[in-house]
Amino acid sequence: MESRRLAVISNRLPIVLKREKRGKWVTEPGSGGLVTALGPVLRNREGLWIGWVGTNEEETPSGPLLNDLLSRGTRETGYSLKPVNLTREEVGKYYHGFSNEILWPLFHDLFSHCNFDPCYWEAYQGVNNKFARAVIENTQESDYVWVHDYQLILVGRELKRLGITRQAGFFLHIPFPPLDIFLKLPWRFEILEALMEYDLIGFQTTRDLRNFIGCVRALLDYQVKGTKYLNSIIHHDREVIVGAFPISIDYREFADLARTEEVAEKAWIIHANIPEQQLILGVDRLDYTKGIPERLRAFGHALACYPDMRGHISLIQVVVPSRTGVEEYEKLKQEIERIVGEINGRYTDIGWTPIHYIYRSLSRTELVAYYKTCEIALITPLKDGMNLIAKEYCASNIEEKGVLILSEFAGAASQLHQNVILVNPYDRQRTADAIHSAFVMDLEQRRSRMRRLRRSIQRHNVIDWVNTFLRAGISKDLRDFPQAELFVPSQ
Ligand code: UDP
Repeated sequence: MESRRLAVISNRLPIVLKREKRGKWVTEPGSGGLVTALGPVLRNREGLWIGWVGTNEEETPSGPLLNDLLSRGTRETGYSLKPVNLTREEVGKYYHGFSNEILWPLFHDLFSHCNFDPCYWEAYQGVNNKFARAVIENTQESDYVWVHDYQLILVGRELKRLGITRQAGFFLHIPFPPLDIFLKLPWRFEILEALMEYDLIGFQTTRDLRNFIGCVRALLDYQVKGTKYLNSIIHHDREVIVGAFPISIDYREFADLARTEEVAEKAWIIHANIPEQQLILGVDRLDYTKGIPERLRAFGHALACYPDMRGHISLIQVVVPSRTGVEEYEKLKQEIERIVGEINGRYTDIGWTPIHYIYRSLSRTELVAYYKTCEIALITPLKDGMNLIAKEYCASNIEEKGVLILSEFAGAASQLHQNVILVNPYDRQRTADAIHSAFVMDLEQRRSRMRRLRRSIQRHNVIDWVNTFLRAGISKDLRDFPQAELFVPSQ
């Protein structure tokens, strides 16, 4: 691969600006697979990351103080950080509005949660234009620009409108909906045409890719050719490559952490405090796409249908606070807490609590301790781009005794389906049956399934994901694609 400078553009910078109690501003490194995976590539290519600092312009430090904080962030990460400042109104309409009240629910097939307020569209265009200007200010023509996710779909279009040429790729971290859902979007043509301004568009799964191609064929009538994993769309002598690139995790990081003393100690404490139980784990950001109420009801139903599980199984449900202050999310939290209360009220007995509910974010060590020690993971989103928790659970389950129950609507199911228990999260009875099947599954079965899951995740880790996308983006010509190196769901 020729060495070119890489510019990553995402809604948030990979650092968090925080104000300490005494008013002093500090930076904290961002976490997550994307930051881990892109770090080395950005460092090797003298790269830069452009994003929002995560606070309103009105309250963000400015001038020399901001420069000083970002220089500190640059020293810590090893690549340049370039901020995009947003006003409170922009954050409200572009981020909470268009991104989170329109694209997020619609692309997750949850149309009834959408609020198609027309003023959101104006703000979305304005902020995407702001990001495009930041790209122009901080990059040169030979740089490769990689734009991430649904908040920034229009950046490629805005660059062209500003008369600037950059080779640019886009990756959508969330699902792409089927035609009949996408058609409901009032700005369906604008969004689709804007995506076509990139040279490469990446999706999580072949299902998302198929949905996108279906929309392009129906709405734009462009010619599409290619294979199941990679296609080329020809329009006005331009070729746009579209492909499926399932994101993954830093497998080594989780597997190594799971072997540490610290994790072993925490794992021991968990089981010592909930003795003689099989532990089922649910970990989710507070979001209606994660299917948390449906899952709790399925667990309650399993206890009703299978009395042999009572007293011998406990669900640990971790809910990580998210989008705090948004009314819909507050209501969801109340609903979850009501169902937990109902189930615990009905079934709790001396020495046994059916559901242990945790509402806070966990440290990495705590999280891996739960992954390592819980016998079953119950991951049942109504819809999810990928769901990294599923992959992290397997990577950390080093004793290979865990069973993964996974929603068929999680992107991860397209790769892992053969060695998990697949469920339709809307089907309470079969989800309850799946919980019981996992509960009684023998050790040999568990081991052979978990071993295969771990091998597949190890083979397709996040570093490969970055390399494959960049190779596809930079080589550009369909013939140059290393087909064999593309992710093919393991069969
Ligand atoms: N996670 C976290 N803190 C926690 C629990 C989880 O940072 O207390 C991380 C977890 O390690 C995973 C991410 O949150 O990498 C969740 O990713 P996923 O794709 O499952 O869902 P998303 O929240 O992105 O929709």
